[in-house]
Amino acid sequence: MAKATTKKVSTNKASTKKVGTNKVSNSKKNELINPTSYQFLKEYINNPSPVGFETSGQKIWLNYLTQYVDTTFTDPYGTAVGVINPDAPFKVVIEAHADEISWFVNYINDQGLIHLKRNGGVDHQIAPSMRVWIHGKKGPVKAVFGWPAIHTRMSNPEQKEPQPKVENLTLDCGARSKKEVEALGIHIGAVVTYEEGFDELAHDFIIGRAFDNRVGGFMIAEVARMLSENKKKLPFGLYIVNAVQEEIGLRGAEMIARRIKPNIAIVTDVTHDTHTPMINKAIEGDIQCGKGPSLAYAPAIHNKLLAIVEAAAKNKKIPVQFRTLSRSTGTDTDSFAYANDGCPSVLISIPLRYMHTTVEMIHKKDIVDTIQLMYETLLQLSPKTNLNYL
Ligand SMILES: [Zn+2]
Repeated sequence: MAKATTKKVSTNKASTKKVGTNKVSNSKKNELINPTSYQFLKEYINNPSPVGFETSGQKIWLNYLTQYVDTTFTDPYGTAVGVINPDAPFKVVIEAHADEISWFVNYINDQGLIHLKRNGGVDHQIAPSMRVWIHGKKGPVKAVFGWPAIHTRMSNPEQKEPQPKVENLTLDCGARSKKEVEALGIHIGAVVTYEEGFDELAHDFIIGRAFDNRVGGFMIAEVARMLSENKKKLPFGLYIVNAVQEEIGLRGAEMIARRIKPNIAIVTDVTHDTHTPMINKAIEGDIQCGKGPSLAYAPAIHNKLLAIVEAAAKNKKIPVQFRTLSRSTGTDTDSFAYANDGCPSVLISIPLRYMHTTVEMIHKKDIVDTIQLMYETLLQLSPKTNLNYL
């Protein structure tokens, strides 16, 4: 999910309406993620995929997806697409984004310390003492975000604790001059990602860097796997799209929506679990990990398509949670909805704690429920589906 920077995303008070209860036990439902797909998820999350530099992640994703689709293609900026029924005139997209927030090397000082620029909405507050990889011309170089010790940081004219900001954060890779930095292959424009990767917590929670939105890439690939393994024949072309450059303004989706010209788009991304401290539910709505995917109401969300998703959830007893968004969804939904002549679009989000940190947290049951909801929705669609408002 992209952080709104230039445009203010207004959030209205969210509805707390909930539909259905899940009668299937967690352990049974979690088997839908099999050991091979779980291994793919771990590898995909552990691999860095910075905005604008998503190629290695796209290769991992395509390598997994290919077995479940008829054909694949990529566009000039690296958005990857798997297609089922490529000759069908009616086209449905299921979409996630492949990029992860990161930093750019912006300035190397004479002492060999490296100043950065954001590449996406990476969080300056979590940076001090983090370990990173600088992706230089000679391969990844390990570095750390330094920060003055608790003992020394009051010794400034204001005698106030400094706050981490892009301007005062630096990376230390062990080099003590600009020359030593450059000797490691580090250059202006090299991208930087955090080292932390996939891990498991108790009670079916998993954590990782950039589950936003690579869990989406995983889920749409799993939808393709389910369609293939259950031998489902779709009456339309299904385009499984892993778009680049979402985090800097929904750009990859913008490009690929024009190329595919879909009739319907089902977008998946992450959304905030609002049950942790310092989040106001009256502003952010009431969404919780473990309680199912979140469906949003918004002008960009097509009401008739949303009703189809909601009915599929009800029929299959998949729990869902509702929220509202207004001018912008802050997701690729906007790019698809407003592309071309208008494309009926819907957003199915997975709840996540601590977005844009290195410990983004997701409940496995929500992954299973989100995959199932996309799958069941697809089985309801056909070229005859009437989505006209009037
Ligand atoms: Zn994001």
